[in-house]
Parts: sequence; structure tokens; C-alpha cells
Amino acid sequence: MITTSPLDNLHFDNRFLRELPGDTENINLPRQVSEACYSKVLPTAVSEPQLVAYSPETAALLDLPDSVCQSEDFLQVFAGNRLANGMESYAMCYGGHQFGNWAGQLGDGRAINLGELQNQRGEHWALQLKGAGPTPYSRRADGLAVLRSSIREFLCSEAMHHLGVPTTRALSVINTGEKVLRDMFYDGNPKLEPGAVVCRVAPSFTRFGNFELFSSRGEINVLKQLLDFTIRTDFPHLGEPSTATYLAWFSEVCQRTATMIVHWQRVGFVHGVMNTDNMSILGLTIDYGPYGWLENFDLNWTPNTTDAGGRRYRYGNQPSIAYWNLAQLANAIFPLIDEVEPLQQALKTYKDHFESGWQAMMANKLGLKAFATATDNDLCTELLSILQMAETDMPIFYRQLAKLPLDLGLTDDALIAPLANAFYLPETLSADYQTRLAAWLRVYIQRLQTDAQPEASRRQQMDAVNPKYVLRNYLAQQAIDLAEQGDNTMVLDLLELLRHPYDEQPDKQSYAEKRPDWARHKAGCSMLSCSS
Ligand code: AMP
Ligand code: MG
Repeated sequence: MITTSPLDNLHFDNRFLRELPGDTENINLPRQVSEACYSKVLPTAVSEPQLVAYSPETAALLDLPDSVCQSEDFLQVFAGNRLANGMESYAMCYGGHQFGNWAGQLGDGRAINLGELQNQRGEHWALQLKGAGPTPYSRRADGLAVLRSSIREFLCSEAMHHLGVPTTRALSVINTGEKVLRDMFYDGNPKLEPGAVVCRVAPSFTRFGNFELFSSRGEINVLKQLLDFTIRTDFPHLGEPSTATYLAWFSEVCQRTATMIVHWQRVGFVHGVMNTDNMSILGLTIDYGPYGWLENFDLNWTPNTTDAGGRRYRYGNQPSIAYWNLAQLANAIFPLIDEVEPLQQALKTYKDHFESGWQAMMANKLGLKAFATATDNDLCTELLSILQMAETDMPIFYRQLAKLPLDLGLTDDALIAPLANAFYLPETLSADYQTRLAAWLRVYIQRLQTDAQPEASRRQQMDAVNPKYVLRNYLAQQAIDLAEQGDNTMVLDLLELLRHPYDEQPDKQSYAEKRPDWARHKAGCSMLSCSS
């Protein structure tokens, strides 16, 4: 075939589509789809696509040079106006537990897969457009996404990657030129907002909920096909599918999930909607909706207004929710194993892996050579209580902690001084609080002295895991406000800034500052609704 677009010369190997059963009906209307892993569906064309941003690193995974990403054809393909050669589009069928309740069939209601690109290194990367129009899984919604939530997903996926947190990636965010109606505050005042499409990229987008749906319907044959496929494609090191392999697979999913959650707790990321349909079987952060970043450290904080009542998905609850979600996955694959005991054993690996991962993570955050249970459990418990007591900016606190002079002779005031900038309301710190913080700092200094690490290497260890820059909620909102006016510069600035979140970037210091007071209760800066 003679073509002029480089996008038509990519290699697609659409295994999910080829090897798994698909929907036998071909009607793009909301409906229940049985005995199928996907439905073929085309993206809806849009009128005036405009590039907001693309990620050069994600493009590189797909062998796409800048010249291609800046081309008109890129815009057409990744806005959903044209399928490139080799692309075959489909929406995946899955279910899920939402806020603890079984919700039945959900599926890709506004995500349309374009196929699996095989790059020059032989890696498979599934491409998925989010916001590209209705699918059989759209239920009563429109299949679209607005610019604000699309920018949030785009920036956060890339920021998480550079922070070292397992995540799906984002290739591009494109303003569609269409308007989308959203009632952002669910208060009966819908507004037209700019629409957008993000192209997500991951080795696979399979979720816990894919397995749950087939199991719940008794479609055990499809369940088995999906699990065998998943093992062969994404877990080939486990060997050919068998009961033992299924267990090894589940155990690996438990471990990967534990690793992901340890990272979330480390950087202060709160997902906001840890429903089982939003849990990747690869242990990747997936489905960036009303997520948020801890600014003031608060174990009880949830960014999601829909979650404000029960706070199920609050920061401090993420580790146990992941466990609960894994238990649902265990239930889902039970028909293929028929024994409870080994699944329970595997589930326990989550707890063990999380515990040891959390300890190693805290040791790094505090600059300890290794976590010593005898002393460091108490050290960490007391630190978390102290952080919770006064409004304390988490990123600033840990960065400043690395600069603490290890001098037990200092007064309380002098000890606390390097941390002063981390407090939101420094004038309200009580004498008791300051005494308690200073006491903790003394215990911490003594603990560091037993390690006798050179100061420079301790600082380096701490700065490598305590980010200087995160996607602060108000920064994302400022970038969005500008982009909605047609100015994408701050989106690009943040994308660039967050490529090096652990480095000091002196000319970017303003992006490391505490949340300003005006942002404390502003929509998008403190709390988000699911409307997106
Ligand atoms: P989420 O809370 O984003 O994980 O979405 C839960 C379910 O609702 C998934 O099946 C989504 O695909 C679907 N969904 C969310 N928003 C829309 C929308 N605007 N149009 C169609 N489906 C949607
Ligand atoms: Mg979802």
C-alpha cells in the first residue's frame, strides 16, 4: 500500500481482538453484551481537532518522532477521525465493584481502543482514546470527556511515570473543537465545556473488573480464555496456563498492586475512585478521574466529592482498599482454581509485600540505611501523628527534613526552623505541638547517628524518593483555566517541570510552593466531582 503518512507504516498486532471472543452484534447502542471481551466500535469524528500537548517520551515508546506528533495526520488519528493502517477499534467489556457494591456490566463507556502497536523493540503497546464517543457500554452517558479532566489525566500520567510510579501513559491530549455538556457541581446548572480526547498507552488495559464480570455471569469459559490470554501476553515468565500458573499469576498481581500502593503513599497520590474496574491487573495506576495530591498531609483526605460522605477512598485507606479489591479478584478467578486456601495464601502476599515495601519506602524517605522494626515502627507512627496534627505540606516537609542539621545541642526553635515553610498556619502551632515535634526530631537525629551515613549520601537518598515537584491540585487547575482560554503554555510548562520531579529546578521554585490560600476551597483545587 502506498501512503504518505508515517502513521500508516506502524505495525499493529491486535492480539486482544484476534484471540478473544468478541461481541456478535454490531449495534452501537447501550446494551448488555454477553460472552464477549469487547465490542467493535468506531470513534466518533470531531470537527476541529487541535493539539494541546503530546508526550515525547510516550511517543518514543511508539517510535513516533516529533515531526509525526506535530503533523496534521497525528491530530486526525488521535482525535479519532481516522484509523491508521493496522488499527482496529473496540471497546472492552468489564464490570466492577463501585464504592463496595457490585455494579454489573460497566465497560469502556468512553474509551475506544485502537489496537496494539508493536514497536521496533518488539514491545506491544495498546492505544486507547478516552472521550472518543459512545460505545455499547456508555449506559446513559455521552462517551465524551471534557478538556479539564483530559488535561488532568494527561499531565498526571506522565508525572507519575517520572516519579517512578507504575502507571498507564498518555501520548496526547487533543481539543476536539466540540462542546460537551457537564453539570460539574451536580447542582442542576450544566454548562457547555470544551471537549477533548486523550490517547492512553499501556501494555494492557485489562482490569480486575474484566475477570469479575465473566465470573459473575458464570461465563467461565470466557473467564478462562481471558486469564490464559493475559498470562501468555503479559505474564509469559509464569509459563503455560495451569492451576498453578493461575495462582502464581494472582500472587504476582497482589505483589504488583502492593508496589503501586506503596508508591502512591510515598508521593501523596490519592486516586479517589479505587473501584475494581479502575484497578489494572498490571499494577498500573489507571483511570485518572477525581484524583488529588496531598498538599497538607492528611490520612483522612479524599479528593472526590462523591466520596466525601464515607471517605472510602481516603489517602490512609488506600492500602486496605487495594486488599479488598484483590479479594474480589480472588473471588472472580475462584471457579478456575476451586480451592480457597491457596488463594488466601496468595492474598497474604499482598499484606507481606505491602508491609515490607512500606517499611523500605519510609526508610528511604527518612534517609535510614534500612528499616529497623525495633525503633522505626515507633519513629514512623509518631511522625505520621505529628504530620496529621498541624497542616503540614507533605512535599516541602520531607525535602526540608533532608536539610536538618544533626545537632542535638540546638534549641527546639532552631531544630524546627528548617521546617517552618512546610506549615500552612505557622502562627497557630501550639507550644505542645512544637515540643512534640522537637522531641521527635531529636529521636530522629539519634537514629540517624546510629547509621552514621555521610550527610551528602543521606540527603541524596531522601531527595531521590521525596519529590520536590508534584502536580499540585491548584497548579493543574491554573493550567486548565488557561487552556480553556486557548493558552496551552502552562500545560507544557508543567509537563516539562514534572519530567524531573526530584531535581532542584531553581527557576521553577514557584511550582514547589505551598498551595496558596485562595485555592484552599476552590473547585478543582481542593475537591473534584466525578463529572468529567
Ligand atoms: P469511571 O468512574 O470513570 O471509572 O467510570 C465508570 C464507568 O462509567 C466506566 O464504565 C466508564 O467508561 C463509564 N463512563 C464514565 N463517564 C462516561 C461518559 N461520559 N460516557 C460514557 N461512559 C462513561
Ligand atoms: Mg473507570
